[in-house]
Amino acid sequence: MKTGTIEWHLVSDGTFRLDGGAMFGVVPKPLWQKKSPPDESNRIRLGTNCLLLKTAGRVILVDTGLGRKENARFREIYGVANDANLVDSLAGHGVKPEDVDTVVYTHLHFDHAGGGTRREGDAAVPVFPNARHLVHATELHDAENPTVRSSASYLPDNWVPLREAGLLDVLHDETEIVPGVRTFVRPGHVRALTGVLLESGGEKAIYPSDNMPTSAHVPIPWVMGYDLYPLDTVATKVEFLDRAIDEEWTFIFEHDPEVGAAKVRRDGRHLVVEPVLPAPTAGGAVTP
Ligand SMILES: [Zn+2]
Repeated sequence: MKTGTIEWHLVSDGTFRLDGGAMFGVVPKPLWQKKSPPDESNRIRLGTNCLLLKTAGRVILVDTGLGRKENARFREIYGVANDANLVDSLAGHGVKPEDVDTVVYTHLHFDHAGGGTRREGDAAVPVFPNARHLVHATELHDAENPTVRSSASYLPDNWVPLREAGLLDVLHDETEIVPGVRTFVRPGHVRALTGVLLESGGEKAIYPSDNMPTSAHVPIPWVMGYDLYPLDTVATKVEFLDRAIDEEWTFIFEHDPEVGAAKVRRDGRHLVVEPVLPAPTAGGAVTP
């Protein structure tokens, strides 16, 4: 895929499952189950669609999926299926772990930061040894000082080994990583959720991370029950949605197991999602 001159791909770290009710917050089940059919444990299947950017001679990865460090009980609870994982998916695009020069974390929850480290004996070690790993200061602070509610999402093995290896860079602001690739930081899912905007040649694409995790979350009231600041999630959607529709931005969905990217248009009062890219599957197959 291209946005102007920026080449990008979605690379998968496999799939996992979360409670459908929690994924859709106040939306009644009769509505969400039509879009995401639950399994017998009421869980819905989710992708880990990480964003690979190849532009200006750089190799940039946004988020890293779940990784494989956690134990059998964790993998069972969350229905983790990543025998083929992010490293395999990158190989399908001719990218070796040592080729990645930058990893951007939208936040440090385990389904976003898990794949940046791997188990080696008793230790967790970096997967991308030559990459600067970027995380917003507020998110790092909140990950290291979790509340009773947030602590299950933050597993220190996902970022402490990066800091110990001198690979962690803390961002205090929004930043332009390379020309046309900018981060934006808003409260909502967490206190400082980072999203990524691509802008080149008059085209735009948005990677909203957990502000809009699947194509079902495009409508403004469809907000996750997991969000710590749901009214801020709503405000961010209001801020971006009209402009993104009017200017025909591409929406890229991190957790949608079917739709990797889409355009959104209005049809009267309804929003219509028109897929432009399927969600990736994990593994070495080359996608165009
Ligand atoms: Zn997530």
